[in-house]
Amino acid sequence: MEVMTAIREQGDVLRHASPIPFHPCLNDEAHGQVARIHLPVAPRCNLACAYCERILSDDPDLPGPGTASVVMTPGAAALRALAFLNEYGGDSIVGIAGPGDPLANEETFECLERVRRQAPGAALCLCTNGLALPRSMDRLVAVGVNTLTVTVNGVTPETVAQVQPRILEGGIWIKETEAARILIDRQREGIARAAEAGMVVKVNMVVIPEINMHEAEAVSGMAARLGAKVFNPMPLIPRNGLKHFCRPTGRDMAEVRRRCGKELYVFTKCKQCRADAAGIPGKEHYGCRMIKNG
Ligand code: SF4
Repeated sequence: MEVMTAIREQGDVLRHASPIPFHPCLNDEAHGQVARIHLPVAPRCNLACAYCERILSDDPDLPGPGTASVVMTPGAAALRALAFLNEYGGDSIVGIAGPGDPLANEETFECLERVRRQAPGAALCLCTNGLALPRSMDRLVAVGVNTLTVTVNGVTPETVAQVQPRILEGGIWIKETEAARILIDRQREGIARAAEAGMVVKVNMVVIPEINMHEAEAVSGMAARLGAKVFNPMPLIPRNGLKHFCRPTGRDMAEVRRRCGKELYVFTKCKQCRADAAGIPGKEHYGCRMIKNG
């Protein structure tokens, strides 16, 4: 019991010492208080994650960053962002999280630039798998992205290749451990450069007990060394190529969070929202549903 109390106290000290922005997807305290909008402008992807299903659906109960009702044009999405900021206030977050990889879509940059021009003070956020992060860094810095999430599912090519078995590079699909090696290198370079550029970086990890749970501590340790500030382990939603794999139990997740909280602030409130989520998490105006174009 004393050991547990010491661990908890250490976590509390880290939590209060960490400069975590008051952002609903980075900071537990902000989760039910600050609004965010995900603008679904990015349909294409440069990876083939085994757990991913990109779905266009109006069903509000379908979760996951790969899900949206519709793909918006950058112009329509920027207008929607302005209306959202008017409704929820300038402290709210404008982000792009899919339904594909934001950095594999030129529309992402066009949308961010439009929002930045029309709302110069807006807090901009972006989620990515990291493959195209190094080559996108100058543009993200130029547009003023404040917070960045990178999903990292392991530290060894053998593990990562089971979760993300293919990457698309220069129009060619590269497979298995060769692909995983490239992905890992790009993620590491991208996280380090983003942190150096002043972005607050969160590392997400999809926790899959049979594949990568044993590498969670190594992922969070690597993220901390590269300058990330937040770690967000998320339970697998079993579907697509991993539909027969087990979701981690509550106890598994508690253990992962405990082990990974030594070096980084661990965010615990993530609901794996859709690529078109809007509102305060848990109190969505639209219940994570889509806002139609225009
Ligand atoms: S998926 Fe939803 S709950 Fe999770 S970090 Fe993003 S907005 Fe927050």
